[in-house]
Amino acid sequence: MAGVFPVDVGPQYEGEVIRKGDMYVEFGGPSIKNKFELVTLKGLDEVENEKIEIIGPDIKDLKEGGSFPLGMMIDVAGAKLEKDMEPVFERRIHLYANYIEGLYHMNQRDEIWVRLSKDSVSKGLNSFEAIGQILMFLYTSELDVIEKISITFVTDEKKVEELLANAREVYKARDERARGLKEDDVQEFYSCALCQSFAPTHICIATPERIANCGAISWFDGRAAYKLDPEGPVQEVKKGECLDPIRGEYSGCNELGAVKSMGTYNRVFLHSAFEHPHTSCGCFQAIWFYIPEVDAFGLVHRDFAGNTVVGVPFSTMAADTSGGRQVEGFLGLALEYLRSPKFLYADGGLRRLVWMPKEIKERYKEAIPANLYDKIATEEDVKNIDELVAFLDKVGHPWVKGEVELPV
Ligand code: SF4
Repeated sequence: MAGVFPVDVGPQYEGEVIRKGDMYVEFGGPSIKNKFELVTLKGLDEVENEKIEIIGPDIKDLKEGGSFPLGMMIDVAGAKLEKDMEPVFERRIHLYANYIEGLYHMNQRDEIWVRLSKDSVSKGLNSFEAIGQILMFLYTSELDVIEKISITFVTDEKKVEELLANAREVYKARDERARGLKEDDVQEFYSCALCQSFAPTHICIATPERIANCGAISWFDGRAAYKLDPEGPVQEVKKGECLDPIRGEYSGCNELGAVKSMGTYNRVFLHSAFEHPHTSCGCFQAIWFYIPEVDAFGLVHRDFAGNTVVGVPFSTMAADTSGGRQVEGFLGLALEYLRSPKFLYADGGLRRLVWMPKEIKERYKEAIPANLYDKIATEEDVKNIDELVAFLDKVGHPWVKGEVELPV
């Protein structure tokens, strides 16, 4: 593809990691508050086909080595497109952006992290114009239902902040829509293999009561993705026989896991962090981690910069959790899953949560049982395990007092 575009483009660049020393600039990531990506379906007469707009400084105008805000908004139109498909197209940003030589894209929604290599910028990938052209080419050549597409890149900090608020409303509405349906109500789940380039034995399973690890593919999104592209990375999974309703073990998921992991594992518990937990790729929004000293769990999200109560930051824990393995006691997951009635049901769910960052505690307040809210420690209450033990004793956390019974 080089020649048409300033750099090469293709699936061979998926999984390419750009280290800090090789980086020209980065957008989003842990140090940048305002960042997002959003795909919106519009009418055919509302989208100016192949228009690329840049609001704020372009790549070549930015200081080398810096980290910057970014809003990436893609508008699509097509007679056969449905509103349900927006999240599916949005998740394709991760796939297509990683096809670009010298561009690294991680995460989704308002957690994106994009890096450009010095090498590719010196070859001409020094403008969003070039990135936009490549993305539009990939979208329209791989998804022929898209008749019109336009892309806006926003780097102006104030503008990104303003648009991010709107994007969060859209994400919220999508998540709300997906609540209510139960695993028992459907015969099919959906699997996603998009992250296998980074985690070869990983496969995500989205059920009505378990959104996929990145938080970007709910059961509804999976259904829309499969309908749109039956040969694509999202596939329908016949759930088969429910072998264990407490842990969330289904014969169809076990068979899928065995095939997709090339035999690395052959059992998957959708709602437990023990024995055969769901695998974790690298795009998860948060990590649910076991704290043996209190036989309970902590939760840390990607944007939490400090050390967790066990003395390590998210990044260290993520390295031990990710890669597509089943790691007992460590689970990468989507924050929306906290709202599921099945949330790690077998392990006691939120009733066994004893530590989480204050920001997430406040953001998911309504998902936490009211009698527990003040009994879950944050980074402001405790700094280490000794302090955690003392805190839990003092507040009388029901789990530590032995008042929570696990389902049998
Ligand atoms: S985290 Fe899971 S659902 Fe999300 S893109 Fe990766 S494989 Fe797909």
